[in-house]
Amino acid sequence: MSRESAEKRVATLRTTLNHHNHRYYVLDDPEISDTEYDRLLRELQDLETEFKELVTPDSPTQRVGAAPLDAFNSVEHAVPMLSLDNAFGLQEVREFDQRIKRLLKTEDDIEYVVEPKIDGVAVELVYENGLFVQGSTRGNGQVGEDITRNLRTIKEIPMRLISTRAAPATRLDVRGEVYYTSSGFSALNKERAGRGEPLYANPRNTAAGSLRQLDSSITAQRPLHIFVHSFGQAAGYEFSSHWQALAVFRKWGLRVNPHIEVARSVDEVIKCCEKVVSLRDKLEYEIDGAVIKINSHDLQAQAGTRSRSPRWAIALKFEAKQATTQLLDIKIQVGRTGALTPVAIMAPVKIEGVEISRATLHNQDEIDRKDVRIGDWVVIQRAGDVIPEVVKVIESKRTGKETLFRIPEKCPECETTVVRLEGEAVHRCPNLSCPAQLKERIRHFASKGATDIEGLGVKLVDQLVASELVTTVADFYSLSKEKIAGLERMADKSAQNILTAIESSKKVDLARFLYALGIRHVGEHVARVLAGSFKTLENIKNADQEALEAVHEIGPQVAENVFQFFQEKKNVEIIELLLQRGVELQQAAEAQEQKFSGQTFVFTGGLNGYSRKDAEALVESLGGRTASSVSRNTDFVIVGENAGSKARKAAELGVTILSQAEFDEMVKSEEPPD
Ligand SMILES: [Zn+2]
Repeated sequence: MSRESAEKRVATLRTTLNHHNHRYYVLDDPEISDTEYDRLLRELQDLETEFKELVTPDSPTQRVGAAPLDAFNSVEHAVPMLSLDNAFGLQEVREFDQRIKRLLKTEDDIEYVVEPKIDGVAVELVYENGLFVQGSTRGNGQVGEDITRNLRTIKEIPMRLISTRAAPATRLDVRGEVYYTSSGFSALNKERAGRGEPLYANPRNTAAGSLRQLDSSITAQRPLHIFVHSFGQAAGYEFSSHWQALAVFRKWGLRVNPHIEVARSVDEVIKCCEKVVSLRDKLEYEIDGAVIKINSHDLQAQAGTRSRSPRWAIALKFEAKQATTQLLDIKIQVGRTGALTPVAIMAPVKIEGVEISRATLHNQDEIDRKDVRIGDWVVIQRAGDVIPEVVKVIESKRTGKETLFRIPEKCPECETTVVRLEGEAVHRCPNLSCPAQLKERIRHFASKGATDIEGLGVKLVDQLVASELVTTVADFYSLSKEKIAGLERMADKSAQNILTAIESSKKVDLARFLYALGIRHVGEHVARVLAGSFKTLENIKNADQEALEAVHEIGPQVAENVFQFFQEKKNVEIIELLLQRGVELQQAAEAQEQKFSGQTFVFTGGLNGYSRKDAEALVESLGGRTASSVSRNTDFVIVGENAGSKARKAAELGVTILSQAEFDEMVKSEEPPD
């Protein structure tokens, strides 16, 4: 390749990889398979090796990940959490061994440790004098997110290390992978299916999502597991080898994978790797390769570390489970929020014994990017419980009879014209009474943070929709005892209870009502902001995009969604019916609203007695605003337990800092704060 074309290709690869880095690390929502990502990264690495002058400090090869989200406090890792270089195939494992020997200037066999590579989420646990004090995500390798409260919910993580003959390290930063078992993941999806919610795509991303819940009680309900496999720093304890460290970890009560082995030569390494490969389908959890590390810590130190990864370790990546088949058709699935997902219908093909005939195509952009056409021969891939996906088209097999696919202009379920909002990859059906979305919307309307109709279970919703007693949310308010009692297995008393619950849901405040409507991007918080700012439903309905965007905290995307929602005639009709049938919108008391008016609050650290969400709701109920980061516009920073960088920033900017006690006092007092 000429230097000129290499330069072009490198630039393209960087842009592509940075995009996928963001999807993967920041959004937990990857668009391409890991194999495909690795292939692109590898191509960039190779080009940068050939043309050294093309390496820049901001190249994806020069960094570990991406910036963490803003919602949790940041944690700086005392020792950076590096990533591992990959080996594709056993030959590259042998090459790794040769590199090590050259580096260490030796012909002798090197002792390695070989372990299964758990396909989970990397975390760091900090123990001080044996006590678990902090846990964090890897983040970008240097700085992660403080997820201590969520990690505490994982029972396999000891809150205190077991003291053996030798006391634990005074400070130990131990690292591991948090994961779902296959059965735990299936059970979770089964539950979701029962509630009519969309299924999670794969265990690893779901584990990441579970660990990053702001409400740790949600994490606590998830069957998460952990294996620890290494450490950053270990003050006050001397480990001579990796193998010894793992043995000591076990003694201290930490969970270490049982399939880790010592290999005394590269030949033994190869045997161990083959063993790990054979484990792949027998284990209760996903593994995506084998990790090979030099055992001796002295030799590790001699081999050293590059900026991105240690030289003394490598990850052998498994080959993806792929197959080739013909794509017969593309069908559209309409999801809960009206999202139209294109699904590839394929000639059935088996991957490792499992027959596959459908694969997701994500959205129109993905179809265009991969240039997938109906009739194409395609490579598909699956891994464990992951929804199969189309990896690429085999262009050489094209006959010219293939046809392009466009997402239809009308919803296949209800014929409403679909919309695609700026900045979004998906097309959506905006119709509130689209049958595909109806059940979910009904459940949402009656849910706790919305109109809170008690006793309206999944089964009853299904029955009400199936019997066409409820075709829009407005129909709740025209139900009678006779109608409900006609449903299968509905006792008189239960029918009466439901009617009572529906009756008492009629008085609802504006914010809850807005939330109940299920407008995209309008969660409980945004609903409160809109209600607080516009006061009446009429005002919101009549607001144009500009007026909506002028509200603090309402971005262009939310503004467009709200505006579009009220442009849809059917939506307006349903709202009118709701009001005609007795729904009464209440406003928050004026006097209360004034107290924190015009004041912006930022919370940092753990609060006693209430969650962050409760505290923010409290501030908003008193007319104040909350923000997630400290700026010059912040009026108060409330500092809880283990507060992080936000407290420092507040001090730098001269923002008033309050303890929780002072904040509680302020809430109780009659006077507005100054
Ligand atoms: Zn529709």
